[in-house]
Amino acid sequence: MNKISHRAYFALILACVLLLGAVAFTGRYFAQADQWVGHSGNMHIYDNSGNLDVNLSIRDRDGTMLYSTQDGRTFADDSETRKAVLHLTGDRNGNIPSILLDEYGGDLIGYNKLTGLHGTVAQEGDEILTVSAEVQRAALSALGDYAGAVGVYNYKTGEILCAVSTPTFDPDNVPEIEGNPAYEGVYVNRFLQSTYTPGSIFKLVTTVAAIEQLPDWDSRTWTCEGSCKIGNDTVYCHGYHGTVTMEEALAHSCNVAYAQIAAELGEDVLKQYVSQLGICDRLSFDGYRTRAGSFTLEDSPDFDVGWAGIGQHDDLINPCQYMTFMGAIANGGEAASPYLVKQVTSNDKTTYQAKTTMLEETINARTARKLRDMMRNNVQTMYGAITLDLPVCAKSGTAEVSADGSVTNATFAGFIDDEDYPLAFVVVVENGGSGSETAAPIANTVLWECIDVLDAE
Ligand SMILES: [Zn+2]
Repeated sequence: MNKISHRAYFALILACVLLLGAVAFTGRYFAQADQWVGHSGNMHIYDNSGNLDVNLSIRDRDGTMLYSTQDGRTFADDSETRKAVLHLTGDRNGNIPSILLDEYGGDLIGYNKLTGLHGTVAQEGDEILTVSAEVQRAALSALGDYAGAVGVYNYKTGEILCAVSTPTFDPDNVPEIEGNPAYEGVYVNRFLQSTYTPGSIFKLVTTVAAIEQLPDWDSRTWTCEGSCKIGNDTVYCHGYHGTVTMEEALAHSCNVAYAQIAAELGEDVLKQYVSQLGICDRLSFDGYRTRAGSFTLEDSPDFDVGWAGIGQHDDLINPCQYMTFMGAIANGGEAASPYLVKQVTSNDKTTYQAKTTMLEETINARTARKLRDMMRNNVQTMYGAITLDLPVCAKSGTAEVSADGSVTNATFAGFIDDEDYPLAFVVVVENGGSGSETAAPIANTVLWECIDVLDAE
């Protein structure tokens, strides 16, 4: 009897192990089958020499070929396009991975989780991106020799029109990268996978908090005499702004006024808004996960709170995430979640179609409207570099990245408040000096190109 019950227990344990195994496999199957099917050991897809038997292509929004698996790997026809989209297509050696192709591998070869490869594998797979090669080239050319990032997206649909990261190189003519300072960090997609000290574009976050938390913000004034003491330290301004309203303080990017506003709001309120607006969160789309930002105040002295409120201290933001914050202000408080892949077809059959989804983080619609007006005033009174005859709203930043302030990143972020051109943007130029002088003209050039592309569609 004892023996039988032992056997029964043993059988039960075995059954449980089997069941757990089956559950684990099913879970992994549904999560990872798309990647498994593209494995180089799959003889349905690869020939005996390990080359893809299927022709997979990545194209821009107009159908221009950017990358194809034909004859090994083929990139775009011209060198400038190859450089401009390198961080999206990946390179030949896998130093920059082809995340967009890997993520949709199953859709490209017509693989279906339920019916498998159903005997036949596609001969053609096309992945259509939301970016425009023309806009990518314009951004690359506008950045010139600077390292940095330019992002533009449609805040109503989520389509990213521009995602450029520099430095870059021609994958068909690879330069000597090792030890060359001009190519430092070249394999990193700076738009999606890096973070930067934001500088004064961060004053927009502090402004959202001030509009909602200081009841009399609209009627108050602050006095800037070029510097002010906050706690035990001194905040310096780049000018002498006298008595200013909050709108004027934002337009002049007055550090004295904004450090005082931030210190008055306090650490907890600023942290609450950073979290509520999702500024430091990661975004996930199309196989990418953007780098998390940081806003690290913890029982900090007032000076640090003031300094953090003007985008310095230990503040770090990811350009793509900040671009979506611009989109939320533009779109009345709620922005579309960004994406890069518009459609995937396999043997001319659509296997993936992007859908617009809205980000969870929202801004109160009234606050968004006030901020929009202040950002519009910035452009009208301060940013002569913006030549578009459209309601562009923006904020510049000159982020100190060296202790003595001699090295600065130029930043510029904003949006066009227009139904036909609902575009939000971000520009970061490493060691670029002033935001309004270096980053604003780049934004202007790229937006002109975006409008041309949208008009032609
Ligand atoms: Zn000032």
